[in-house]
Amino acid sequence: VSPADLVVKGGLVLTEAGRPALERAAVVLAGGRIRRIASWAELSPAEAEAPTLSGADRLVMPGLVNGHTHLAMILFRGLADDRPLMDWLEKHIWPAEAALVSEEMNYWCSLLALAEMIRSGTTLLADGYFAELGALRAVQEAGPRAILAQGIIDFPAPGVPDPGKNLEAARAFLEAGSGLPERIRLGLFCHAPYTCGPQTLRGAKELAGRFGVKCFIHLAETRAEAALIQERYGRRPADYLDRAGFLDRETIAVHGVHLDDGEIDLLARRGAALIACPESNMKLASGRPRVERWLAAGLRVGLGTDGAASNNDLNLFGEMGSLARWAKLSLNDPTALPAERVLDLATRSGAQALGFDGPGRLEAGAPADLISLDLNQVNLLPLHRPASHLVYAAQGSEVREVVVDGRVLLENGELKTIDLARVRAEVARLARKLA
Ligand SMILES: [Zn+2]
Repeated sequence: VSPADLVVKGGLVLTEAGRPALERAAVVLAGGRIRRIASWAELSPAEAEAPTLSGADRLVMPGLVNGHTHLAMILFRGLADDRPLMDWLEKHIWPAEAALVSEEMNYWCSLLALAEMIRSGTTLLADGYFAELGALRAVQEAGPRAILAQGIIDFPAPGVPDPGKNLEAARAFLEAGSGLPERIRLGLFCHAPYTCGPQTLRGAKELAGRFGVKCFIHLAETRAEAALIQERYGRRPADYLDRAGFLDRETIAVHGVHLDDGEIDLLARRGAALIACPESNMKLASGRPRVERWLAAGLRVGLGTDGAASNNDLNLFGEMGSLARWAKLSLNDPTALPAERVLDLATRSGAQALGFDGPGRLEAGAPADLISLDLNQVNLLPLHRPASHLVYAAQGSEVREVVVDGRVLLENGELKTIDLARVRAEVARLARKLA
């Protein structure tokens, strides 16, 4: 038996949402996997001598899963708020993107976004944007597990001035993916039903099938979108996607706020996954994602922050609290979406929605992805039930250690893979161009 690479100790270890936490337990990591979980007393002499992280004041748990974001859009955080979606996109975001987005911009801004995500406990994320090779380089360096999806839209886009070449650009991106580490996957991100025609959707799906990758799409985000698709194609948004052959197990739809019951059942029959982004939906007044209905229909469901231009942070702790509270208020039912269920959406179920079966729980053989929180923070005292604190009390700033694929990305609150001073300076330089 090879020696352990790292032993992560916790005063409490929460192996999976819904399970009781283990007291004074340790997660033994070797070769990028979890070898075993044992009590401190059970550690072998070799394990006890292996490099050790955390300790008695920590809660060790699976890392959080961000099912939908646009990393590079962190550059537009706070640039334009308090506006309707189409006004925000057409008058502010799209012009800023046309002027500024490049691989270089995506690289530096993605590093800043990854710093925020790692510090708040995200270990797996799905990104969709243009000039996505920049995000790929950032993720390779910074170390999280990720799907990076190249944006596709029937308009001139950053790096793709001729929309007739959007699928060609997507193929070039997927071809760049050979030789990547196992933790990084590529994908395609069709912007939305109202910006991608049937031919584009068909072409993207066919291309994704050839490369064996996931296809993402914003779907039924606003009431206006549903009305526009009805007017243009005479059907509901999900029916439109289905007619274009877009809905299957490799499809991950995002938002889903205005899906009716029939569309939710259609997505479930096709095996598609659906990602809720409650804070973005709140801020744009889009409407509430009916996650309890999605779950009842048997959909695979995850949780995402969306981009920092519409959220305006990349913190899944806030997202969990917002999702739970909004469901209770809206349904007039305090038992709706309990903490354990929401925590599961941000860990194991969220990972499965993205097509990753291993991450999201701590068990022998699973990928060595985990985080720890400082249990001495005043807002976590006293502690009766970890899931409650994680969903209703934690802010993300309690995260002290982050490990992905056995590599330490955050230690005692300090980023180990990102030169934050350099990133801060480069993003400030880009932000000045917006003035
Ligand atoms: Zn989005």
